[in-house]
Amino acid sequence: MAHPTYVWLDGQLVPWEQATVHVSTLGWSTMSAVFEGIKAYWNPEQAELYGWQFREHYARFAASMRFMRMTPAFSPEDLVQASLDLLRANECRQDTYVRPLAFFRDATWFGALEDSPTSIVITTAPFTSVLGSGRTIRACVSSWARLGDNQMAPRIKCISNYHNSRLALVEARQHGYDQPILLNSAGKVTEGPASCVFIVRNGVAITPSITSGILESITRTTILRLCREVLGIPTQEREIDRTELYLADEIFFCGTGAEVLPVGEIDGYIVGDGRIGPVTAAIERLFHDLVRGRDSRYPEWRLPVYRRAERPLSSVPA
Ligand code: PMP
Repeated sequence: MAHPTYVWLDGQLVPWEQATVHVSTLGWSTMSAVFEGIKAYWNPEQAELYGWQFREHYARFAASMRFMRMTPAFSPEDLVQASLDLLRANECRQDTYVRPLAFFRDATWFGALEDSPTSIVITTAPFTSVLGSGRTIRACVSSWARLGDNQMAPRIKCISNYHNSRLALVEARQHGYDQPILLNSAGKVTEGPASCVFIVRNGVAITPSITSGILESITRTTILRLCREVLGIPTQEREIDRTELYLADEIFFCGTGAEVLPVGEIDGYIVGDGRIGPVTAAIERLFHDLVRGRDSRYPEWRLPVYRRAERPLSSVPA
């Protein structure tokens, strides 16, 4: 498999082949590991790569590490700069994932991990965007319940939480669907395995509240702001019943990986006419223009990798 030239490991750009850990650190260290999924979008007209919402992602990464009682040696600002350096070093000139991971370096069993130093590694990998594809997907309600806040706290991005996500995704795929939607233990809608969910009813974009058992999604917050500040679409953050999925005019997943992903069918119910609906289409178009820097609003969300990389981070508009 093709791999990038460098990874960033604990403050150094390290050649891919040399970025290794000992086999004895596998296992326990991954149980408490936390990560981020971040994207950088290529703009061919400007020949520029835009890091999308790096500050927001590294703030959440810091929150995940805090929750795990990790003691990282690097600040969110350090890691934003590290990501810009890594993208440049790897000469990324296409849509690219940036994947930071933090783990206890000396973990030998699941207890007493707070004593271990924290390692941080950042890797890059190309991805293919679904934005503008016009594709809709088939979704189902999962038979697996979403983790609760008092169990494994889906609010943060711990690797172990994705065991729950994986069970739901594998089941959905086995049954011929693209993506599952998980309910919480009270039977209310939460999110997808790696994305948040919006429904549209009577022109209102509705998404489960942040206390329903979901990740504190950056894309969810962004879309709520875009609806309110730019598109004039009314929004609600509230509990969503399962039956509302079946009666919704539109449904879409959103997230760094999912981008804006319209649902055409859920549990055999066709959503609208099965194609992307007008509210989803408006959100998707604006989101696509913003991430690629074709729409210059919200410049604080985009870090140009090549144009500004030489400047100290403090000179980049906040
Ligand atoms: N929920 C889960 C479980 C996720 O893994 C993701 C992807 N990070 C999301 C929601 C969407 O979050 P974000 O918009 O911050 O990518």
